[in-house]
Amino acid sequence: MDGSFTEATRIPLWDPERDDTLVCRQVRQETHDVKTFVFSGREPRAFRFYPGQFMTFELPVEGMIQRCYTLSGSAARPYRVEITVKRVPGGPGSNWLHDHMAPGREIAVSGPMGEFTTDATAEQKLLFLSAGSGITPMMSMARTACDLGAPADLAFVHAARSPSDMIYRQELSLLAQRNHGLKLALVSGTAPASDAWAGFTGRLSLPMLQLIAPDFAERKIFCCGPAPFMEGVRAMLAEARYDMETYYEESFDFGAETAGSFEGEPEAAPEVSGQTFRISFVKSGKVVECGPGMTVLSAAREAGLRPLSSCQRGICGTCKTRLVSGDVEMAHGGGIRQREIDQGKILACCSHPLNDIEIDL
Ligand SMILES: Cc1cc2nc3c(=O)[nH]c(=O)nc-3n(C[C@H](O)[C@H](O)[C@H](O)COP(=O)(O)OP(=O)(O)OC[C@H]3O[C@@H](n4cnc5c(N)ncnc54)[C@H](O)[C@@H]3O)c2cc1C
Repeated sequence: MDGSFTEATRIPLWDPERDDTLVCRQVRQETHDVKTFVFSGREPRAFRFYPGQFMTFELPVEGMIQRCYTLSGSAARPYRVEITVKRVPGGPGSNWLHDHMAPGREIAVSGPMGEFTTDATAEQKLLFLSAGSGITPMMSMARTACDLGAPADLAFVHAARSPSDMIYRQELSLLAQRNHGLKLALVSGTAPASDAWAGFTGRLSLPMLQLIAPDFAERKIFCCGPAPFMEGVRAMLAEARYDMETYYEESFDFGAETAGSFEGEPEAAPEVSGQTFRISFVKSGKVVECGPGMTVLSAAREAGLRPLSSCQRGICGTCKTRLVSGDVEMAHGGGIRQREIDQGKILACCSHPLNDIEIDL
């Protein structure tokens, strides 16, 4: 049996090395400022991803920008992927998706990638803490677990500004009704009289958490949401002396400081020589000395260039550029395909020169 076909259907697997175009099949309005976009391949493809992983989308706005979106659907429904996007006021990427992405439209992507994942069907006590659009990785993990069997012991706490801002509200309630291993607690910042709100009201606090999951100290915690929410969670857990060894968080803002860790093996730091090499930026004509430990991206900035970059960890692919001559050591995290490396492309954020090099910037 050829390993590149799923056993049951013989539909070829999505191959991130070769496949790079999704076709939009459906758009769903989730809340007043959140939409879900459902995609499949041009030809039928089976996607293989860990729930919680994301894809990087190339959006034709302001030239071309790249934005990452979590695959919010179930990893156990492999023939389509979906993303759930909050419209960020003034944000070019999310507004373009909301205004222009429609059934039939094609979009270039890379991935899936990312390490923020867990198996909620496994015998482990879990606590998901999400807020706003930060629910997407948790939703994928919960949907996947419910599809694959049932969550073993999952307490899922989701917070939103108001009941009408609560993404997947009905589906979450339904999943909790049908799966005894899933205990759901919805927390709304406000509770308008117009909504028959039966959940918690106010900000997520330690007394509230103790009520929802009294055994939270024994649970592995996964957290995702806006930076102030995650800061609040960390402060709350510090107050409760929670062991942060079992705390994992995902930030939707790669630039933000994250105190949490990521599940999975930490990436090995590249062996960098103690030497200084010359980097020539061909398009701009700038030349800079690249000292020990410096990346091509930091050297470009030192030269006064402003190349696009996002994650700084070789994951998102935003800083992809071409190595014109010379050699680099690149410790990427999945943000570049082997065929692109073969074509001489590199990710500037995680590449260190091994000799004098020329870069197409
Ligand atoms: C790994 C990863 C996964 C992501 N998954 C999702 C997802 O499932 N759904 C989703 O909506 N977004 C997700 N994002 C965020 C997404 O990539 C974009 O940053 C977001 O859509 C805003 O892009 P923009 O171009 O509209 O605005 P930008 O110009 O990039 O951002 C404008 C401002 O809004 C802030 N911001 C960015 N995202 C949000 C947000 N979701 N809510 C509130 N403020 C925000 C930014 O910090 C920035 O200050 C993810 C990001 C990462 C790194």
